[in-house]
Amino acid sequence: MVIIMRPEATLENIVEVTRVIESAGLQAKIMEGAQQKIVGVIGDKTKLVSVAIDALPGVESSVAISKSYKLASREFHPQSTIIEVGGVKIGGNEPAIMAGPCAVESREQLFAAAEIVKEGGAQFLRGGAYKPRTSPYSFQGLEVEGLKILAEARERTGLKIITEVTTVEGIAPVAEYSDILQIGARNMQNFGLLKEVGKCGKPVMLKRGLAATIDEWLNAAEYIMNDNPDVILCERGIRTYETYTRNTLDLSAVAAVKHLSHLPIIVDPSHGTGKWRMIKPMAFAAIAAGADGLMMEIHPNPAKALSDGSQSLTREHYLDLMNGVKKLSKFMQEENLNPIVID
Ligand code: PEP
Ligand code: MN
Repeated sequence: MVIIMRPEATLENIVEVTRVIESAGLQAKIMEGAQQKIVGVIGDKTKLVSVAIDALPGVESSVAISKSYKLASREFHPQSTIIEVGGVKIGGNEPAIMAGPCAVESREQLFAAAEIVKEGGAQFLRGGAYKPRTSPYSFQGLEVEGLKILAEARERTGLKIITEVTTVEGIAPVAEYSDILQIGARNMQNFGLLKEVGKCGKPVMLKRGLAATIDEWLNAAEYIMNDNPDVILCERGIRTYETYTRNTLDLSAVAAVKHLSHLPIIVDPSHGTGKWRMIKPMAFAAIAAGADGLMMEIHPNPAKALSDGSQSLTREHYLDLMNGVKKLSKFMQEENLNPIVID
């Protein structure tokens, strides 16, 4: 529910509305509009049935929002959100590109990858230090050592860092070294982790769960946004009956999320397809669909990668892709080709 205050509502009126909401065991969030203030009610609104909110002084009206998420909703926040990370905008006109190996394997491997990432013009270096592997016998990541290598690569190249956090204990070290914290698909509904990562003070990229609906994904974002508005969504493919690809990349989610939410959305065609040959066409399609950027796996030598080599681009393929992405994005801007239909 959102409560729309009258333009002439006083501070006392807003304080009283907030008090009524909070005494019903709910949370109130005040939003300042250009003309009016809006109070968002977070929690089970059925707790307010016995309260005549509309009758309180200064209240214009109250609107029930059928969607269970609010902070992530475009209804609540009509303007598209731009998140700035060390001077790089995510959600602005330029696509934000995150590239790098699946996992940080060694200093040599990561530095070689970082040089390639930089050469292609991406702004972010990715690489897992904590790897959520399906098998406990697979390479699990270099952990804090991997974080230090990522930070060293940032020093050398100026690239910003994004890396995954998989546990509550991992939040502090990852937040110390990384510019953006990534919540992986397998943890999208790890609500304890979501609540804690919201308190880390850095932007968070939330990947869509393997079998999550868009509604569940936006509700997951809501958990983080309770403490931190800087959330970036990432579509990385979902499980369907198709087995040729690793996942089915749901590009329609870009259009749906742009309508439903103000948050920026990145597309990961690497995990979305599992096949390096499919990354370029899906990357072009994602940009054409209105995605705010891409996350892609690259490796100096994919055949030797400790994880996800078959979906990692070589230097040549990555540079070729980036050349195309830059041309496509420039063309769309120059021709005013905005694929996003919000209303
Ligand atoms: C990753 O980006 O390294 C990763 C593990 O992706 P996902 O969580 O989408 O499977
Ligand atoms: Mn991977």
